[in-house]
This record gives sequence, C-alpha cells and structure tokens, in this order.
Amino acid sequence: MTHNDRWVSIREARQETSVGKTVEVRGWVRTRRDSKAGFSFVELNDGSCFGNLQVVAPGELDNYAEEVQKLTAGCSVVVVGKIEASPAKGQATELHAQSVRVLGWCDGETYPLQKKRHSFEKLREWAHLRARTNTFGAVTRVRNQICDSIHNFFQENEFYYIQTPIITASDCEGAGEMFRVTSLDLDGLAKSGRPVNYEWDFFNKPTYLTVSGQLEAETYATALGRVYTFGPTFRAENSNTSRHLAEFWMVEPEVAFFELADNMRLAEAFLKRILTDCLQQCDEDMTFFEQRIAPGVIEQLTRVVEQPFEHMTYTAAIEVLEGSNESFEYPIRWGADLQAEHERYLTEKHVGGPVILTDYPSTIKPFYMRVSDDGKTVAAMDVLVPGVGEIIGGSQREERLDVLRRRMQEAELDMDEYAWYVDLRRFGTVPHAGFGLGLERAVQYVTGMANIRDVIPFPRTPGNADF
Ligand code: ATP
Ligand code: MN
Repeated sequence: MTHNDRWVSIREARQETSVGKTVEVRGWVRTRRDSKAGFSFVELNDGSCFGNLQVVAPGELDNYAEEVQKLTAGCSVVVVGKIEASPAKGQATELHAQSVRVLGWCDGETYPLQKKRHSFEKLREWAHLRARTNTFGAVTRVRNQICDSIHNFFQENEFYYIQTPIITASDCEGAGEMFRVTSLDLDGLAKSGRPVNYEWDFFNKPTYLTVSGQLEAETYATALGRVYTFGPTFRAENSNTSRHLAEFWMVEPEVAFFELADNMRLAEAFLKRILTDCLQQCDEDMTFFEQRIAPGVIEQLTRVVEQPFEHMTYTAAIEVLEGSNESFEYPIRWGADLQAEHERYLTEKHVGGPVILTDYPSTIKPFYMRVSDDGKTVAAMDVLVPGVGEIIGGSQREERLDVLRRRMQEAELDMDEYAWYVDLRRFGTVPHAGFGLGLERAVQYVTGMANIRDVIPFPRTPGNADF
C-alpha cells in the first residue's frame, strides 16, 4: 500500500510480535518528557489505535538539541528505529529511534489542544481539531466499527445494499419538518415582489431533502426480497435535544414476506451484532469509555448481548407509566405519543435494559403502518435502550390496497404523488416490514456519550452549520 515497506501503523508497532523489527512510524506528538540521563520519551499517536507509541530518542541523534528537545504536542514527525520490548507498564513495546524527522511544527502558544482537558462544549467550537483528542479518536473508531458491522450483518444475511434518493418530492411521514431544495433565486423573487412558483423550479415542483429512504426501499424489497439503505437523512425539526440532529445517518432494512415478529427478531439480532463487534474489535476504545465516560458500560452491553430483549405493548407500557410514582412533565394518556422521559423510564427503571414496544395507536403513527385487527392500533415496533430512549423505529407495512388507500385519505395525502407507492399493493402485494436505526444514537448507546453532537464529525443543529 506504500512504496516504503518499513512504514507501519502505531497499532502494529505496539504489538508484541513487532519486537526486533526496524520500522518507520509517522504520527503526531502527544507529549515529550526529557530524562536527566540525556534522552527523551516522545509519546506518538497516528490515529490507528487508542494507545500511543513510546519513542525513546537518544541524545546522540544529530538533531537532538536542535529539534527533538523542542517537540511539543501536535508536531508531526517521522521516526525510524527498532522496536524493543518495553519495561514500562501498560505497553508491550517501545521504539528506539535512529532518526526523528520533523514534518510540521506546532506552536504551543496558539495550539488550542494543550494538555489541559477541555469540555465537549468547548471542543465543538474546534470541530476541525477535536478529532485529535482521545475521546474523538475513540468515538470515530467505534463509529467506523458500527458502520462495518451494519454492512457485514446485512451482507451475511443476504440483503442487498441499495441507495435511495436524497432529494425527494414526497414527505415520508406525512408531516412537515423538511428542508426545501430549490434552485430558485429566492432573494430576487422577494425583491421583485413576485410569488414563488415551483413550476419554474429545477424539478418543476417542490422538492425536499429526504427524511427517510423507506418508501423507496419498499419498491426494491418487493422485488429483491431483502434490501437495506444507509445514508444521510435530514429533519428540520426544531428540537434542541441531546438526541436530535438536523442531519443524521440512518440504516433502513426492508424485507418482503416479513411480519412484525420477524422484524423484531431482525432488529434484536442486528443490535446485538453491533454491540458484540464493538466489544470485541474496539477493546482499547471501550476501556476508555468505561473509565472516563460511562462507568459500567462494558458490563451493561455484555449483559444486553446475552439476554433476550423484553417486549411490551404500548397499552401495557401506558399502564406501567400510570402505575409508576414518577412525576412526568408530559401527561400519560392512551393515544398520546410517548415522550423521551416516558421512554427512558420504561427502559432504564422498569426493564433495566432494551425493550421493544409494539402496537401503538394508529393515530400517532404514519399511514404506511399495518392496521391491526382491533382497528385501533398498528403493527409498529420501537426499540428503546437505556441512556438513549428510542434507537430503532419500525413496523410491518400496510400491504392491503383498500386499507392503505383509506389511511392515505385520512392523512390527506396527495394520491397522485404516491401512485407509485400504491402500485406495490396493486401488483403482487406481500406482507413486508422494516425499520430504521439512527447511526448516531447507536454510537451514543455503545460509547455512553451524552450528547449526540459529539458522536458525528460535524453536527448540524438549529443555528449551527459551521465547518
Ligand atoms: P424521535 O421520537 O426520537 O424524535 P422519531 O420517532 O421521529 O424519533 P423515526 O422517524 O422513527 O424517529 O426514525 C428512525 C430512527 O432514526 C429513530 O429511532 C432514531 O434512532 C433516529 N432518529 C430520528 N430522528 C433523529 C434525529 N433528529 N437525530 C438523530 N437520529 C434520529
Ligand atoms: Mn420512531
């Protein structure tokens, strides 16, 4: 992969099996400590793993006094040397330098990431630099692992990865809160006093950024059987919470010949696969989260993997909430949407682990969810987890043509706009189901990070689209 076959990652250099090898490493200085015995310890990180590589730089180096002794946090260097077993605790190896070449200096006076710890709020202002911190390096590696697990899980289970459009003319939920996409000169129109006419817009009609790829995924599920879409989604909801972003990533599997119970089994196996992989593949990063961010997280996730998820109907959940002695801000009433405080009570206090809530009132769920025999509820399922609340939302879809049409009329949807969606029920309809997992909520759950703004590289929230 490189013309220089001595160059290894710090991840590799830290492994015991590397002892005895002469290698080159390239990275950024975390700290430097000079020994009275006339040499220096330089802690180096290159992002390949959580841990640093300890470089022992002897005083005999040509540039020892001129450069090595001036290294500060953030400097970039190339070090050639021999890997030795390390006598120090917590590291198997160290690198005895034969040369240290400085590529880029880093002014200690103006570099914001000094040794001192900064709050996550402060680090958001330096989103271009925060990836260099321990926390954001660890979050990034776990996020990558989750993405890898998502693809591996679905590929191994014979799903096809499909790409659904980002620009769309349909509002999947039948609710507002969408970003408009337009190439019209809105300033010019406003100045001239002429009304906005979307027939002159790029697509000759109003278009938006997608809030979900589900409806389009259904078209492929009802042809290829098992598909998933995984991409960015956009919601202009003005909710300034620790669990909402205006731009987030969602993975949405959709499966033909699937009913609610199948869908629940799929969601459980899927989540457990993510947790298992993170615990196994990201052990150094997870140990950091355990020690510095969320004490107990490793044991908690391990327990979740081993036990079956609890199931509860919405109606049973309402009874539990009514019977609890909690004073909730929002009232509890059959037919009202559950608020985050209710969801968290159910998963954190009542169940003490993940819980799948099913059979919600049809009045609070979108038109595409399958109406149950009682006529009042739909075959919906939300997976709630401690610390986060809703992590997955899904349902069995309405496959009956007449019922779907009725629900669309009730929701006052434009039938012409959705004719293609209705066609799936006109031509060889089948029971089918799917769900959506918010990637950032999954990262929050695994890492224990409290704020969703700190598990995506560049968060977009109301009033904030910097970087
Ligand atoms: P909530 O009730 O928490 O606002 P929702 O019911 O509107 O979520 P769905 O439409 O069911 O969300 O979307 C599926 C999944 O996408 C959710 O379970 C959640 O994991 C994630 N999600 C939804 N909205 C957001 C958001 N604004 N930011 C981050 N993730 C989100
Ligand atoms: Mn939902």
